[in-house]
Amino acid sequence: MTTEREDELRGRLAALRERLARAAEDAGRDVGEIELLPVTKFFPAEDVVALYRLGCRAFAESRDQEASAKVDQVAQAVGGLGDEPLRWHMVGRIQRNKARSIAQWAYAAHSVDNAKVVAALDRSASAALDEGVRAEPLRVFVQLSLDGDESRGGVDVSAADRIDELCAAVDGADGLAFVGLMAIPPLGADADEAFARLQQERDRVQRHHQQRLGLSAGMSGDLEAAVRHGSTCVRVGTALMGSRPLTSPAVVTRVTPSSQTTVPLESSEPAPPPEGSTQ
Ligand SMILES: *Cc1c(COP(=O)(O)O)cnc(C)c1O
Repeated sequence: MTTEREDELRGRLAALRERLARAAEDAGRDVGEIELLPVTKFFPAEDVVALYRLGCRAFAESRDQEASAKVDQVAQAVGGLGDEPLRWHMVGRIQRNKARSIAQWAYAAHSVDNAKVVAALDRSASAALDEGVRAEPLRVFVQLSLDGDESRGGVDVSAADRIDELCAAVDGADGLAFVGLMAIPPLGADADEAFARLQQERDRVQRHHQQRLGLSAGMSGDLEAAVRHGSTCVRVGTALMGSRPLTSPAVVTRVTPSSQTTVPLESSEPAPPPEGSTQ
């Protein structure tokens, strides 16, 4: 059984894979070393199931509340389809009080930028490992801010000491695995310049670590530039899923085939930031 939406996603996914392959080729890189990570925030579990049928096994979300509900829905829907594990990635701002929940569903967190969150995630992931809720440490990308505006998320890229300290804390945490750096180019910035700076910082941080560090970099609008500068994981929402059905800062409108329902966000969640910001 295929639906119209599934056909649409099949076409977009094929086009996106081709686009990524071309980007890799143009950069003289092997596309096999670059993960294509679909960002499914604001889209329903049905879309994730459709992508699963199309071969996707990893998905990214930006809010714990939305993600944890969707993870359960998808697990129920695909339970019988196979035993390859689904890997969910947290790419949005992480609040400390959500660490426990995130450690239950996330395979990786891309947006870790302070020591308190590291400690909270480590505690929660360690507990989840002890309880058998998770099989592996939580993979962590440390997020950097490329313009130094830390209010938008990320450690200032020019604060080498603080970056080293945070990376060392992640690396030393039993419940976590330090896997690389992540950044989002500042609004209006030249993507090549931004990603070149990120890559340079990755190369610097790499000198202190044995494991090969990756780069979570590139979205719908700038993945080619990210691939030119060493990205190992592009996080793509819009180019795959279509425009997010976000109508106002306080309300998420979920569009379903049969109805349009407006679901207010729980007040404990921060209002979604404008497009192009780090959520
Ligand atoms: C939403 C989001 C994306 C996807 O952005 P698109 O421009 O829709 O591809 C990537 N990374 C993060 C951190 C996001 O919040």
